[in-house]
Amino acid sequence: ESVEVQIEDQEFTLESDNELRFEVENKNETVVLELKTGLAEIFGTELVKGKSYTFYFGAKIAVFTWQGCTLKLRGKKGISYISKETPMMFYLNCHASLEQLRVKSEKENIRGPVTMVVGPTDVGKSTLCRILLNYSARMNALGRRPIYVDLDPGQGQISIPGTVGAVMVERPAEIGECFSQAAPLVYHFGHTNMSINTTLYNTLISRMAEVIHQRMDENPRINCSGIIINTCGWVKGKGYQHLTHIALAFEVDVILVLDQERLYNELVRDMPGFVKVVLLPKSGGVVERSNKFRSESREASIREYFYGSPRNVLHPHTCEVRFSDIKVYRIGAPPIPNTLMPLDMQKTDLETKLEPVTPGLNMMHHMLALSFSTSVEEDVVRTSVAGFVCVTNVDISRQMLTLLSPQPKPLPETIYLLSDVQFMDSNS
Ligand code: ATP
Repeated sequence: ESVEVQIEDQEFTLESDNELRFEVENKNETVVLELKTGLAEIFGTELVKGKSYTFYFGAKIAVFTWQGCTLKLRGKKGISYISKETPMMFYLNCHASLEQLRVKSEKENIRGPVTMVVGPTDVGKSTLCRILLNYSARMNALGRRPIYVDLDPGQGQISIPGTVGAVMVERPAEIGECFSQAAPLVYHFGHTNMSINTTLYNTLISRMAEVIHQRMDENPRINCSGIIINTCGWVKGKGYQHLTHIALAFEVDVILVLDQERLYNELVRDMPGFVKVVLLPKSGGVVERSNKFRSESREASIREYFYGSPRNVLHPHTCEVRFSDIKVYRIGAPPIPNTLMPLDMQKTDLETKLEPVTPGLNMMHHMLALSFSTSVEEDVVRTSVAGFVCVTNVDISRQMLTLLSPQPKPLPETIYLLSDVQFMDSNS
């Protein structure tokens, strides 16, 4: 048992190019940060002087300053320290290069830079994406509108775990929050581990790239701002093949490789010459996360989908539907032995097959995605989803499902896609 100590306000003076790193390590603990003098930013979002920023359990933060600043930190907390060694100058240079490509694309009326960030787990891929997106969004006068694509279904930053998604970035993210999402483009994958259905994963990637390229073609501002793609930390074997598939599908121009020289060399070898592959150092501040932490943050992300965050509380609704009134499907049929496989069928066909699922106890605590397709006649697998509900109870005798929904509206009559991802709603 750790002894909780109430720590008084602490002041930190940072010289230029330094950062203050801290974590909120315990549940129910909060840390409040204030910028007293100078200028500072958190992962590319500028702090407002004199404003209090509250951080909650799990936050792992670096407050960086280009100019020097003083900061005040209040609350109980574990380690907090100033680092003079950061890779921020490299990251800023990346931003400057991307900005040059955007200017060029504006002039020549061609697609702006499509950038993919890759590297093993816990090297700061998401953080680098966030910094680059924030920097471009901060250039108000230029009206940049880059698209952020998150292809890691393990975390599903754009939506919930088990999905891949994209969002247009119009303004810097609020401190401690994700990028604001007017109309995210979300695809249901249904698993947090992409190795479970690689055919489906690649199918979704190709479809997403198609849809995003189309949107870019229709909007010059988005087009010249380009795309920033976050990938997952699986970079060996099949994981590497996924990376090359993503690069091909999205027609990537720039690949930023964090930390791993081997991966860098492989990509230099395998990518066509016009793709610029850049090796970047990782920040010493990036915190390794345990499997336990990852599964807790998955749960927290679904909880936030329904209940909001301390900054923005939401009130979800519960409703009941009859088994007979809901159409639930799963993507991917269980494998059949080769000898039983119809001659005209491939293993990959099975992996993207839409299979009806009869409601029952097997759905308990599972997430269901609401497809934009309303009938199986449509291309359900390659259609994006509108939102999610969670099955919080299955009543066999009454043949009823209880669903938790973020919306008070009656549930639409649509296709529901069963996810492997589960959520235990402690409030119901
Ligand atoms: P994965 O692929 O495993 O999901 P990742 O490579 O995308 O991880 P991030 O999510 O960017 O890694 O970073 C891991 C954690 O480290 C995050 O919680 C992030 O807030 C924190 N972090 C990143 N940079 C710093 C830093 N300079 N100082 C302190 N914490 C940091």
